[in-house]
Amino acid sequence: MFELVNLAGNTYCYTMPTNVVFYVTEDKDAYVIDTGINEKSAKRIISAAEEQGWNIKAVILTHAHTDHAGGCKYLVENTGVNAYATEAERIFVEKPDLEPAIVYGAFPCRDFRGKFMNTPACKVADIKELALPKGMEIFHLPGHFADMIGVKTPDDVYFVADAVISDKTLDACPMSYIFDVEAQYNTLEDIKRFDGKLCVPSHAEPTRELASLAQFNIDSLNKVNSVLLDLLSSPASVEELTAKLMHIWSLPETYMQFVMTSAGVRGHLTYLRHKGLVSYDFDNNRMLWTKV
Ligand SMILES: [Zn+2]
Repeated sequence: MFELVNLAGNTYCYTMPTNVVFYVTEDKDAYVIDTGINEKSAKRIISAAEEQGWNIKAVILTHAHTDHAGGCKYLVENTGVNAYATEAERIFVEKPDLEPAIVYGAFPCRDFRGKFMNTPACKVADIKELALPKGMEIFHLPGHFADMIGVKTPDDVYFVADAVISDKTLDACPMSYIFDVEAQYNTLEDIKRFDGKLCVPSHAEPTRELASLAQFNIDSLNKVNSVLLDLLSSPASVEELTAKLMHIWSLPETYMQFVMTSAGVRGHLTYLRHKGLVSYDFDNNRMLWTKV
């Protein structure tokens, strides 16, 4: 942890709870991809670059979640460079109240504003305006959040952000927050084709076995769908399904966990509804889902 590792050529990973990737040009210009969770992470990133004699040239955000964008404001203000993200993700960093609101469905009370929902507001430019160094490519990884991107460095290293979650995390609980389950399936099928290249997920070790990890993530989505379909042998509300899943996976009974799990349930119900596998009806004004 907190170690600068050379991955290939001029591509480095700064291992943190949320990994940061540096690509450094021959002129020692460093492109920083993601910024860690807070000001402390940003200070570490600046120090790491200074120790190597690199000039931070630009910050690229894969997406707006706080553990990726929480250090952005400090980094931008203390290096004088711009941060870049896709149009949909920029909005959440510039108006960070929107992130918890989109998960909760309205402006949430303070109990929902833990360290993972606390991005300092920061101006972010459109990634289309960034002149990428020769050989660097941006690719879209929709599913996990609004319009997450990955970055391929000129050294053929693929940074895939939160498109894949580690098998250890998914073993403990196969459901993670997914903005769009169907898009996530498609993204996981796409990134299986990166296998053989060096890939860096945000919360797992760099790997050349991305296809098997992506398949593990697909299997986990399937597992959640299958558990929900079993539960929906009899009609149940979103709250009831949430409570049952929290029991099955022994999740902590907290405001944050309940809202996140409930959002996960809603996301999977959308997917199952679009596949024609579940339907809903009303009973005394209670909206109840059931297997078709
Ligand atoms: Zn994320």
